[in-house]
Amino acid sequence: MEQFQTFVTHLECSYTGKTYPADQLHGLSEAGKPMLVRYDLDALGKSIKKEDLITRLPEFWRYREFLPVRKSENVVRLGELMTPLLPASKTQQQLGCGEILIKDEGRLPTGSFKARGLALAVSMAKELGVKRMAMPTNGNAGAALAAYCSRADIETFVFCPEDTPKVNIEEIAFQGAKTFLANGFINNCGRIVGEGKAEMGWFDTSTLKEPYRIEGKKTMGLELAEQLGWDVPDVILYPTGGGTGLIGMWKAFNELEAIGWIGSKRPRMVAVQAEGCAPIVKAYEDGERHAELWKDAHTIAAGIRVPAAAGDFLILDAVRESNGFAVAVSDEAINAAHQECAKTEGVLLCPEGAATLAALKQELATGRIKKEEKVVLFNCATGLKYPMTSTHEKIDLNQPIDYEWIENV
Ligand SMILES: *Cc1c(COP(=O)(O)O)cnc(C)c1O
Repeated sequence: MEQFQTFVTHLECSYTGKTYPADQLHGLSEAGKPMLVRYDLDALGKSIKKEDLITRLPEFWRYREFLPVRKSENVVRLGELMTPLLPASKTQQQLGCGEILIKDEGRLPTGSFKARGLALAVSMAKELGVKRMAMPTNGNAGAALAAYCSRADIETFVFCPEDTPKVNIEEIAFQGAKTFLANGFINNCGRIVGEGKAEMGWFDTSTLKEPYRIEGKKTMGLELAEQLGWDVPDVILYPTGGGTGLIGMWKAFNELEAIGWIGSKRPRMVAVQAEGCAPIVKAYEDGERHAELWKDAHTIAAGIRVPAAAGDFLILDAVRESNGFAVAVSDEAINAAHQECAKTEGVLLCPEGAATLAALKQELATGRIKKEEKVVLFNCATGLKYPMTSTHEKIDLNQPIDYEWIENV
């Protein structure tokens, strides 16, 4: 089997900087904080040129030198395609703003960008000999975990809040995970995993409690830069729950600059949350580096209903360093943007993706996003997983068809 050329040197606590050896199983650092994978970027930069990518398949494993898997036989694949950047030209015209691009992550396996993180986490788990994985989830992460683990012959235990979207619960269970619904939030489900992992022999795959999901989400930043001709947009609006993608993209841009593929320009990173669950926004506005637990979290955008994020300070650091901001939008604004984008652009967003469009409209109005800025919105999942409100009429085939009525509906 072909071996990947890999450049991982060690893991590092994102809070204290303490280093840990690679090629061993790690969860959080001793300080209880997320771990980051570090590479020999010098050697990485010398081993590959931008042009080398041209002949590789249009999937995120094209960036394998930037990823931690050492043996190609450990890569668990379900077809991790590069996702399109769709111009939203009519919306742009209506809003009179700069270019709007939608990164449509709904095309990935299991219909969401959670596939990026879990493809890496499960491949690394396979490489490190893990046999049982467990996770709390609001839906999409559990679905991706279940699918990749079934493919890799790893047993999975998934814990969901009882009001997780039904389709998510079904896909998780259908794809082979032992699936449990609990009467609480994702952080309460996280406690079940944390407290039971020793007894049950589980590897805790919770957001940012293992080091590799960030590396998978990092490919969004690599891919975006490549798709823009090794450049970055002015602003990225990212629907933020645990924040893995925002943190991962920030890491990607730093690594790309270190090897000289992009310059020092960074997009302004905007963390978008829902008014009913906005711990990062509150911490941002209060000037804090850590967020308080959000009580009575509620929003139709289940993927960003995360009352407490283990990587809160990493999200807030990236937002502040990039001169971005954190902003909350209402469920009404999410619903309106959801419907509008489907009708005008033919792009069926998920509610979390719609939240980024709602935030764009809101912040063009306040002036925090400038009319000339080029903006990327992240649509994190296929809209087909979510309820849609629509109107339609009935036809009785036992009656003559009334075309005049059809014309005027
Ligand atoms: C997980 C998820 C998010 C949040 O992503 P993070 O990187 O964890 O912040 C947003 N939307 C959807 C649909 C998700 O599944």
